[in-house]
Amino acid sequence: MKVSLDQAHNLIRSADQILITGHIHPDGDCLGSMLGLYHHLKAAGKKATLLLDDDVPSGFRFLPNWTDIKKPAHQNEQYITDLLIVLDASDKERIGRVGACVSGPVLNLDHHVSNTQFADYWYVDTKAAATGEIIVDLIHAAGEPIDPDSALCLYTAIATDCGFFRYANTTPKVLRYAADLLEQKVKPELVSESIETSTLADIQSLIAVLGTLELQQEGRAALITVDSHALSLTENTESYINYPRSIAGVEVAVMLKEVEADCVRVSLRSKTADVSKIALSFGGGGHMRAAGCTLNTTLDQAKSRILEAIARGLAER
Ligand code: 5GP
Ligand code: MN
Ligand code: MN
Repeated sequence: MKVSLDQAHNLIRSADQILITGHIHPDGDCLGSMLGLYHHLKAAGKKATLLLDDDVPSGFRFLPNWTDIKKPAHQNEQYITDLLIVLDASDKERIGRVGACVSGPVLNLDHHVSNTQFADYWYVDTKAAATGEIIVDLIHAAGEPIDPDSALCLYTAIATDCGFFRYANTTPKVLRYAADLLEQKVKPELVSESIETSTLADIQSLIAVLGTLELQQEGRAALITVDSHALSLTENTESYINYPRSIAGVEVAVMLKEVEADCVRVSLRSKTADVSKIALSFGGGGHMRAAGCTLNTTLDQAKSRILEAIARGLAER
């Protein structure tokens, strides 16, 4: 059932035990939204628990109370809750094992066009740059103030999902919210430096990956591959796709990541074609200009299938 922000707030207010989760392979929006809402609820005297079926990447371990994010212990562990709040995830598969081990009504707050309306209650604003923006909307709708810990997390959520105010989703509203959050003692340099700090192994991995760069489809598509060697050096590969994306004339950038044998994670970025459609056609999802999916095939097969789909996407334009 579709709900308004006021209805979402009422659901949260009337729940005693609240569980908050987000998507696997968490990014800044996912973690910042989870922790931002968590701090806000705690400040309001609510009991909330953070559950995520993945590790918190090292670059986000500056977020206050990130260690409160727990992984579901094992398959048989069951959590009963008054409300499971699913943030920044557009389908049930995206929350991994949390979907199977939690019982209770589900409220989904999200901003993906590919949202499948899987939850009992859903609020999806595809105009929002980040789920963090929706959390700020929610707090405003409730007429409540934002505390400094919450502000740091929500600033991180919003800033990361709009590429630190550079992508097309950077609206005047985004900049106003960022300004309001900075009023709460957020230090923007702390956020960007923490996320951007790299290790020598990170750079060695990047060197290996950039060596795989290739242009396809007359320079309209660019592709990089993260093989198991590059992945053994680091898991912080999120920013790599910015390199193929930045090449003049490239409309669609692809990163293929061999996460295990016959399992390839695909990241897509676009300046023209709708890559959320391409990702959806492989069971994934995302936004028009940033999307992803997973293919259970070899790297070579994944590459040819994705390139075929991109060729079709580009031809449609
Ligand atoms: P990334 O390439 O950074 O992993 O993801 C880009 C965007 O697509 C993000 O908004 C992310 O939430 C979404 N996305 C990535 N992979 C998947 C997927 O497998 N399923 C769905 N539904 N969305 C995805
Ligand atoms: Mn996300
Ligand atoms: Mn997001």
